[in-house]
Amino acid sequence: MVNSVSFPKKLYYVARMIGAFAGPAIARWSTRPALPATSTPVAFTLGNGIKLWHLPIGVVRVREWHRELPRELAEVDDGLRFPVMMSNTSITGWLECAAWLIDHPERYILVDTGESISFGTPDYFKGVPKMLSNGYPKIIDATAANENVLTQALSSAGVSHGDIDLCVLTHTHSDHIGNIDQLDHSTPILVSQQELAPVGRGGRLLAKLPQGERVKTTALTQQHNIFGNVMPLTKSNDVFVISTPGHTVGHQSVVIDLGERQIVIAGDAAFDDQQVLNKAIPGIVENRQLTLQTYEALLRAQQAKPTLNLFTHDSTNRRKLSEFSRLNSQA
Ligand SMILES: [Zn+2]
Repeated sequence: MVNSVSFPKKLYYVARMIGAFAGPAIARWSTRPALPATSTPVAFTLGNGIKLWHLPIGVVRVREWHRELPRELAEVDDGLRFPVMMSNTSITGWLECAAWLIDHPERYILVDTGESISFGTPDYFKGVPKMLSNGYPKIIDATAANENVLTQALSSAGVSHGDIDLCVLTHTHSDHIGNIDQLDHSTPILVSQQELAPVGRGGRLLAKLPQGERVKTTALTQQHNIFGNVMPLTKSNDVFVISTPGHTVGHQSVVIDLGERQIVIAGDAAFDDQQVLNKAIPGIVENRQLTLQTYEALLRAQQAKPTLNLFTHDSTNRRKLSEFSRLNSQA
């Protein structure tokens, strides 16, 4: 399949990509639809004293092929995938960006920070290499409603910045790190070592991470029977970080183990469950092989015990969680 992309076709994709970067930002060539109504944070009771808050913060629009490549292009090699994706001109509607707050008896853990209304402004891209800050608005369109900020979402959850004990970043794309500056300046941030390794291309916004001691790297030091090496975030070992590479090579997820069942806060490991089942590949993945391995790991977890995967841009998260917590209370 890889060889099915002929040389002239490769040139075509690269030329289209160059054209996309030379052209205006997505927001200008594909008229923005109205913003969806801002939904307020909702808490789901999971049992064992754990509550999970769904915090919708910001929205993104991406190319259809960014979300998922057509079957016949799913196997293009890693170097050509990005030009192929950029050659596509149909844009999705607004996709929600979810951040998650785990209210655990031991601590508050925030997973990701959502997208910011200031996406695309010089302030937002402060310190980010020019090529990346100029290119970003041509790869995605992103924003948030006025009142849709992390601070507001946390206060709806009855939590202030200072209460957050740890912020785990699944990865450092804009719609996950967008509101990192709204955290308390003492909140530790957990990122994988691989995510921090410099990359030539790719949309990791490492410059938005605070300098110094606050950024900790994930240490997967404990062996887990389902997930391999994990990093526990609670003394009771019921919340832990796992490695789910592919989307970025340093992408990580957070598991909430409820005994009989489990939840995987899976970031952009996929856009939805269907992609995992169908082995469908988004255009945006850094490494296809690792993406497929992560899909395998999520499917194996599902075989071990009932597992709910929550993806950042999945519009069915709330429905899935309602169903899950309903079954939980019956159990
Ligand atoms: Zn994302």
